[in-house]
Amino acid sequence: MDHEGIRLSVADTERFGRNPVSRFRANLASVEERIDSACARVGRDRGSVRLLPVTKTVPAHILRFAYEAGIRSFAENKIQEATAKHDALAELGVDWSIVGHLQTNKVKYLARFACEFHALDSLRLADLLNNRLEREDRFLDVYVQVNTSGEESKFGLHPDALIPFVDTLGQFPRLKPRGLMTLALFSADMAKVRPCFAMLRRLRDEAVKRNAALSELSMGMSGDFEEAIEEGADVVRVGQAIFGKRPTPDSHYWPGLAETA
Ligand SMILES: *Cc1c(COP(=O)(O)O)cnc(C)c1O
Repeated sequence: MDHEGIRLSVADTERFGRNPVSRFRANLASVEERIDSACARVGRDRGSVRLLPVTKTVPAHILRFAYEAGIRSFAENKIQEATAKHDALAELGVDWSIVGHLQTNKVKYLARFACEFHALDSLRLADLLNNRLEREDRFLDVYVQVNTSGEESKFGLHPDALIPFVDTLGQFPRLKPRGLMTLALFSADMAKVRPCFAMLRRLRDEAVKRNAALSELSMGMSGDFEEAIEEGADVVRVGQAIFGKRPTPDSHYWPGLAETA
């Protein structure tokens, strides 16, 4: 099957359908509807919530269909995968975000092209990123990741370490603080998920007193973005609800996580 000159393999059509553009459009429309309803339930303006599509494991050639469906920012968990896709799709001119943990030896790749980084969680990383961005003459929007679930598998600062960390951010002029990020507990029980979002909101309310730029909350994924919006999310990071189920288990991204959370 050919679409827009892109040949789809059997595996592609099994995962994304014969017409990925129409499938992505339909999925986006349903996510949009759910965002609208969540906003309406708590009296928020739809314009106050940004949808950040998470494209991990979606092959670069399939992302051309996502572009055609209107998506202009792609978020990836792993920097190697992001770099390969960025290079393959450079002419599209989309924005790339990194939402996953970054090893310090990978800083140079991120600094080269990423617009946003949602997993800042150490001084050493902040320092290395700042230096590298200066060499590239670039700036980076950053969200400070906080571990609100207490799970060891999750990256991010301990909540008690947040304010001292926030007070150091002024030393890194190439990092543009935007807000806080968290991954809630992986659970279908929303009574356990919501407190993670509520905690991040309370921490944000403290953090903005020290640095007014840290005003946004990056929280909520396919399984919990509506609850996140009700708890105040400004950015929701949504993958599977747009691109379909991933072949890789979540434990691939969060080592130590039970595969059936
Ligand atoms: C994969 C991922 C998401 C999106 O998860 P989905 O279940 O695909 O919506 C959000 N945030 C981070 C950090 C991720 O790695």
